[in-house]
Amino acid sequence: MSERGVFIGRHVVPRDREFYEIRNPADTRQVIAKFPRLRRDDAREAINIAKDSFVKWSKTLPVERARILYKVADVIESRADEMAKTLTLEEGKTVPDSMFEVVRTINLLRFYAGLITRGEGKVIQSQDKNTIIMTTREPLGVISVITPWNFPLSLPAWKIIPAIATGNTVVWKPASITPTIAYELVKAFYDAGLPEGVLNLVTGSASEVGDELVTNKDIDAITFTGSLQTGKEINEKVGRLNRFIRVQLELGGKNAMVLSRNGDVNLAVELTVRSAFGLTGQACTATSRFLIPEDMHDEVLGKLVERTKKIVVGNGLRNGVDMGPLASKEQYDKILSYIEIGKSEGAKLIYGGQPIRGSEEFDHGYFVTPTIFDGVTPDMRIAKEEIFGPVLAVMTYRTLDEAIDIVNSTEYGLIAGIVTRDISEAAKFIEDAKVGVVKVNKPTIGLEPWVPYGGVKGSGNDMYKEMGEEAIEFFTRIKATYIGY
Ligand code: NDP
Repeated sequence: MSERGVFIGRHVVPRDREFYEIRNPADTRQVIAKFPRLRRDDAREAINIAKDSFVKWSKTLPVERARILYKVADVIESRADEMAKTLTLEEGKTVPDSMFEVVRTINLLRFYAGLITRGEGKVIQSQDKNTIIMTTREPLGVISVITPWNFPLSLPAWKIIPAIATGNTVVWKPASITPTIAYELVKAFYDAGLPEGVLNLVTGSASEVGDELVTNKDIDAITFTGSLQTGKEINEKVGRLNRFIRVQLELGGKNAMVLSRNGDVNLAVELTVRSAFGLTGQACTATSRFLIPEDMHDEVLGKLVERTKKIVVGNGLRNGVDMGPLASKEQYDKILSYIEIGKSEGAKLIYGGQPIRGSEEFDHGYFVTPTIFDGVTPDMRIAKEEIFGPVLAVMTYRTLDEAIDIVNSTEYGLIAGIVTRDISEAAKFIEDAKVGVVKVNKPTIGLEPWVPYGGVKGSGNDMYKEMGEEAIEFFTRIKATYIGY
């Protein structure tokens, strides 16, 4: 397996660095690629290059930046099958789920290419005569992009594309376990004609490369998605440096789906199963708590288990598979340990809860069964902490107020869903759920790129939204100009 490069200004293969292996989580005997473990100095060099490149890129006309973005979209479209397969081999999700990321990336490229040519600013009436006041938007400079492994293509894309579209330059550190698809994304930008140094890709450890991307004095903003713990660390580090830079933190979730007494039971079960076990539960938007009316418990639970039994677990490359492996050994150990925690807390394990072994397809991968715990109460760790795997906690409630209290009872506030036919119930839920996104009769997973996204409470620092037109706000600052004549 050949050693892959990184992008520090241009494509380089740093032979004098140690290389580490990326293995297929569905079959760990298979090495997908080898990537360099860069050092702090390499990250520093990438930041310097990004800083130099900003001078020219920030002056490039929006229409020219848009032309390149449209071209990147075409390049990715022509490689869609190949990229989806690479993503599956590296992260484990099914090919249709990987393809969803590829298509979302293409949509993001075309969306921001269109948006950027429109420009944005205001003309404001002055209190003085013969005066024009206007606002314009300017790019910030060098943006650090630090991303997780679970959406290794479309999530970085929803940061990188608006950053570049608005005239910034980027240094990107992908998660250590998913550099291959990151490499493919950056390569597509350069194959489409992006000037050297505008998008830099650095692979390596969080403690060295990640730390440099947070603490380097030439970084003008940081956009990070990952765990609450890391988000807190980054926030603290930037605070200690006493630098007034923008930091966007998009963190974990503990999302709930509520079935109302007036809701369609089959729909609620379908949406919950898809959102809890699709993507192997490794989505910040996954449903991890299912709240059902106490007096409907037995009926709903029966249907939930029946539907869950139909989930096909297996290698994400195989047709007909609904749920691939967990993405890494770390994830595998973590999920199994949470299953033990659930049992020890007194929750009833009513489905799954096991590693899958015993056949060629499963023996070399990180496969677990979809898992359902019943009788979960809000004080249990499995009801409060983000598990980030295919483990669903079933909880009961008596009134909608009580359900909303449970929804809001964790430190997270990313997404909440309700299944109801009653419009006033839906309205109350929309108003009272302390989250960044509400879904009514829709799965918690699944976001559209033209819609602003972001969490509240422990799910994000909530200063700026991602995606949609709103993403432009993070990557640009407003300048006010007074002109007298
Ligand atoms: P981590 O927080 O462990 O890592 C995220 C990224 O940050 C990785 O690139 C990691 O590098 C890097 N990193 C870790 N520590 C530091 C540090 N101290 N300084 C700088 N960089 C650092 O998260 P995971 O990758 O495990 O991703 C899962 C988490 O992401 C879940 O909590 C999930 O909810 C959240 N997430 C949130 C989303 C949202 O939009 N709100 C969407 C998707 C995921 P390395 O890989 O080398 O350790």
